[in-house]
Amino acid sequence: METAFKKIHPHLPLFRISGNGKAIFYVPGKLLVLNPKEADILEEVLRAGVSREDEGQFHPNIIALLARAREAGKQWAALGEKPFSPECLTVYPSNDCNLDCRYCYTRKSSAAAQEGGNGVIDLQIVRAAARRVAGNCRKKGATFALVVHGGGEPTYHWSFLQQLYQTVRQIAADADVPFFSYIATNGIIKPAQARWLAAHFDVIGLSCDGPPDIQDRQRPTHNRRRTSEILAQAAAAIRQAGGHLEVRATVLPGTVHRLPESVAYFIHELGAAHIRIEPVYGDRAPVFMPVEAGWFVEHFLEAQQAALNAGCEVTISGVRLPEVHGPYCDVLRDTLRLTPGGTATSCFYEVDGDAAHIAENAIGRYDAPTGRFRIDAGKVAAARAKALALPEACRDCINIYHCARGCPDYCPLAADSSVAGGREHLNRFRCQMQVQLTLRWIARLAEQVG
Ligand code: SF4
Ligand code: SF4
Repeated sequence: METAFKKIHPHLPLFRISGNGKAIFYVPGKLLVLNPKEADILEEVLRAGVSREDEGQFHPNIIALLARAREAGKQWAALGEKPFSPECLTVYPSNDCNLDCRYCYTRKSSAAAQEGGNGVIDLQIVRAAARRVAGNCRKKGATFALVVHGGGEPTYHWSFLQQLYQTVRQIAADADVPFFSYIATNGIIKPAQARWLAAHFDVIGLSCDGPPDIQDRQRPTHNRRRTSEILAQAAAAIRQAGGHLEVRATVLPGTVHRLPESVAYFIHELGAAHIRIEPVYGDRAPVFMPVEAGWFVEHFLEAQQAALNAGCEVTISGVRLPEVHGPYCDVLRDTLRLTPGGTATSCFYEVDGDAAHIAENAIGRYDAPTGRFRIDAGKVAAARAKALALPEACRDCINIYHCARGCPDYCPLAADSSVAGGREHLNRFRCQMQVQLTLRWIARLAEQVG
């Protein structure tokens, strides 16, 4: 089915989508299905410009649509205006890992090692950052979220992970705030470790790229050993211990056509309750070309529908219709992210500890004399301004307020840095894929309502 969209309001993010004999009016997060004649009349009126007073004479459905368009604009502006007050502490304990995934963008720990450590973050720094996050949560009545991630494999330094978890959990308890925890692991762990994770973390995100042959090819150990069997054993141990398991899968051009099969494997063999699919980024593996966007979308949607039929949600992070969101920068998401060297970075893609290649992203540091974790408000403001600057091409796009743009392959903060350098074609792939997905999701929703 061919669909196309156009912006039909001079100021508001109001779009008309045509296709399949229907006219759909869409604003971020809300749609209305009209017959094409009604839609033509309304489009003409809206294009000509209507005063707020005259809008009162519209049908309540149109009034609600315009109200949502204004609300979305306000929510977008609020991303840059509300104080940066992290409720989530994300820690990259180290860059050490037992796997050698084909597409991994992690560089070996530098800052933590240079400072005389073993490449593992200093627990003193985690404590200070956790106290700061707990204080925010207490003031706001919010839940403290701990996310342990890599950068590396967070279970690699096992006893340190346990110490880190207990320390942060205690700080949240002392502040009397609710606590939520998530760990992203490659699953190459012993069953006893898997059971410990299940008993302590609310959600375990398991990285798995597909059935055994895909997993073994894309995510082997350093000495090229297969990993699928150990991973499946870890998943079984997590399930048996009552853990909540999600799967995060990286898709390469060579595995797109197997997405429906992969999703079935995650649900029926691993026991995934939720699946996140991401097209590969970085420069170590074959990348997607713009012409492959439609092909990716077809297989993604097929996999998503099959999972839905089995009661499981499949998502992709680049475009999330119900949310108003931009790129993944933490300054837009109330997240404080610590790299192994102890620096707070606003970018998930900067894992090596000093966050140096984009100055604005190094937003905080531990202050040893006071024992406090300091956040640089000036850098937060500068990073936000760049992350929220709408590129010309995005201003009339249906994804204006729900798109990660080309992040991380095209980084708005590093328009001419190495993150973006010469890789705009990746942005074009993500851009085209994200537009096509949005149009297909909206068409699907329109079928359901009209
Ligand atoms: S990056 Fe592409 S899909 Fe996203 S808002 Fe811009 S033009 Fe639209
Ligand atoms: S790559 Fe750029 S846009 Fe993406 S999270 Fe990092 S700083 Fe933000």
